[in-house]
Amino acid sequence: MINQRMYDLGNEPSAIRELFAYGIARKAEIGAENVFDFSLGNPSVPAPDDVKRAALELLELPAQNIHGYTPAQGAPGVRSAIAASLNRRFGTAYSADNLYMTVGAAASISICINALVTPGDEIIVVAPYFPEYRVWIENAGAVCVEACARPDNFQLDVEAIDAAITERTKAVIINSPNNPTGAVYPECDLVELANELRRKQDEYGHAIYLIADEPYREIIYGKTTVPFVPTLFENTLVCYSYSKSLSLPGERIGYVLVPPAANRASDVYAAVCGAGRALGYVCAPTLFQHVIEKCVDVACDVEAYRENRDALYDGLAKLGYECVAPQGAFYLWMRALEPDARAFAEAAKRHELLIVPSDSFGVEGWVRIGYCVDRSVIDGSLPAFADLMREYQKKALF
Ligand code: PLP
Repeated sequence: MINQRMYDLGNEPSAIRELFAYGIARKAEIGAENVFDFSLGNPSVPAPDDVKRAALELLELPAQNIHGYTPAQGAPGVRSAIAASLNRRFGTAYSADNLYMTVGAAASISICINALVTPGDEIIVVAPYFPEYRVWIENAGAVCVEACARPDNFQLDVEAIDAAITERTKAVIINSPNNPTGAVYPECDLVELANELRRKQDEYGHAIYLIADEPYREIIYGKTTVPFVPTLFENTLVCYSYSKSLSLPGERIGYVLVPPAANRASDVYAAVCGAGRALGYVCAPTLFQHVIEKCVDVACDVEAYRENRDALYDGLAKLGYECVAPQGAFYLWMRALEPDARAFAEAAKRHELLIVPSDSFGVEGWVRIGYCVDRSVIDGSLPAFADLMREYQKKALF
């Protein structure tokens, strides 16, 4: 016998992966320039030169230094460098002992969930949400409870989160800048959420943690700022990744931050180490730990994403589509032209537009357009979006 749950997970079709696979086949069939593939969140901006330089320098070191094991939680020098960088940026006083290196945000979140819950506990997610949250929560034996974001702008709806909290709530996962909506949560809403969580903690007599999933922290536009959540709510665990900011998704490198001010911080850190051990997420890739040590303050170049965002948002708005103006990340959230987002995404596919229906993210009636693509894809796609709009306008006449 094998584990049926795992079998089902392995066999379950993922709309995003299926669309991506379809895109590869379709490009081979009709030419890459004729397919407008907005399916994946793979950064289109290359990793900064500093990353390449650091990797090349490191490769000259003795093999043991860069290919050997580090301690399970990561090399102390790497964790100190990250702590010092956070302290410079956010005025905090973290040390290596507050950080656990991981294979990206996926591992960071999974570790935090496993560190906090016992079977039957509840974790709240804000819909629309990154689909893997549910998989990780349920795999830990916990219950995934959805609280909807505000329907007009997809900002936090603190009342909805408040209504979803029960005695079994162990944590709330927030993701800002947000995948899939591009929303960035302002400080005032985070303060309101923090106050609400404190009230609930008092009522139930135990800590409720905020898990801040932040792979897009640096990908923001204009005057947008991303508040540093641990300074607003003490019981915050930060899940960070260099997948997007340094365009290194395939290198699998990130961290968990357990701030010392968090409730039972040293126990939580020990549980993070234990969850890392239980899940097999120990000793993140050594070479890339050291690359991060050298590149800890390297800036993220968002100019190409900003240009794409402007061209896509303006182009779609002119055609009459209703979109949420993205403040960060590299996704545009657009209302489908019919209530059934899957049917709409299928219709878009017939115009060679590969966009992800919102059902994948736990809500209906919208689509996600990932604009981390070459600019030519955006420019080439707008006539196809115009045709798609005309098709729906014609349907409405009959
Ligand atoms: N969280 C969100 C919101 C994401 O969009 C992603 C990846 O796209 C992840 C987590 C996982 O990131 P990583 O590749 O660093 O594991």
